[in-house]
Amino acid sequence: MEAARVHGVEVIGDTEIFIRERKASGTAAKVIAITGTNGKSTTTALTHHILSSIGLDAVLGGNIGKAVLDLPPFADGRYYVIEFSSFQLDLTPSLDADAAILLNVTPDHIDRHGSLESYAAVKETIFKRARAAVIGADDGFCNAIAERAIAQGVQTFRISANHPVSNGIYAEGTELFEVEDGAIRNRASLKGIGSLRGAHNAQNASAALAACRSLGLPWDKLAGALASFPGLAHRMEEVRRIGHVLFVNDSKATNADAAERALLSFSNIYWIAGGKAKEGGITSLAPYFPKIKKAYLIGHSAEDFAATLGQAVPYALTKTLDRAVAEAAADAAADGTGEAVVLLSPACASYDQFPNFEVRGTAFRALAEALPDGPAKDRAG
Ligand code: ADP
Repeated sequence: MEAARVHGVEVIGDTEIFIRERKASGTAAKVIAITGTNGKSTTTALTHHILSSIGLDAVLGGNIGKAVLDLPPFADGRYYVIEFSSFQLDLTPSLDADAAILLNVTPDHIDRHGSLESYAAVKETIFKRARAAVIGADDGFCNAIAERAIAQGVQTFRISANHPVSNGIYAEGTELFEVEDGAIRNRASLKGIGSLRGAHNAQNASAALAACRSLGLPWDKLAGALASFPGLAHRMEEVRRIGHVLFVNDSKATNADAAERALLSFSNIYWIAGGKAKEGGITSLAPYFPKIKKAYLIGHSAEDFAATLGQAVPYALTKTLDRAVAEAAADAAADGTGEAVVLLSPACASYDQFPNFEVRGTAFRALAEALPDGPAKDRAG
């Protein structure tokens, strides 16, 4: 790639061809481009879900789902909701989104870009020719990027999971507020929506709604579409309920940061964790240990995690996922304190026992589905 650049040969990706073809098509097809360190896929799927639910012709692709060149042809009134990785942004110099979302910029994946600054600079390119910019207000990089977008005259909407913004959408707990021309209005609620639990999903929902608003779509339709969002597989996915016990598949949580979101979002937790640990293991999760009734440790990291839990959390060295699910289901069923959650949020890669996190999550779902309907304690011996 470097040699091509040195010799002045263009280096582009399929997303660049897609953007050029849109221009050439002369249609009024719309592009919503979505990036960020975390939450890209959820926000892309949610934006697509909202648009489809209100009867618009919407397709999704890019880094999630179909490759952009396999999507249906450009047509007036068709919305393309496209997830962009940093890698794809780098290879899409002409990107001119109708609405572009940058959710957050946090230290992750900086190996390819060398530094957090150059990683953030690549993320910023999503706004270069955007007609509207939706930018997170919860980290320093995004705040600096927003100021530059505003200075350049891009119509900018801010989003926050936890504090008011000057123009855009923010969350206060499960309530979403729009700030427009100085007026603050409670526009939507995430209360009781299982697929959008947690502050991180409030950020994702605020971003999806702000993008829809920037395209001129009215609230009366938008807010109602949230409740039917099915969520994405393996990301705090509710796979089963047996009586007061909820089974949640968060297999995508391959590091402690991602597992933290899940531990934040639930209480009364029967936690299945472990696998191939990342540096630091689960020491950063200590503040959440009081929410965990018992841990069921699987995989390569089991002994190390047991040492970290120490006296703070009761644990079982179950080693395998099937034993972990059986024991956790039985203990949670016997819990007399209200709703209990059997949570697979491993804080680890899966490679020691599974080919990837999807296979691990699918195995968890199958084990949960195989449990009989009756009280779990009757059958797990
Ligand atoms: P991505 O496509 O960017 O990897 P996903 O939507 O697939 O993001 O979510 C992956 C994991 O990241 C989730 O399981 C959750 O733990 C976490 N996550 C989701 N949204 C956010 C967010 N807005 N901020 C921080 N973490 C998030």
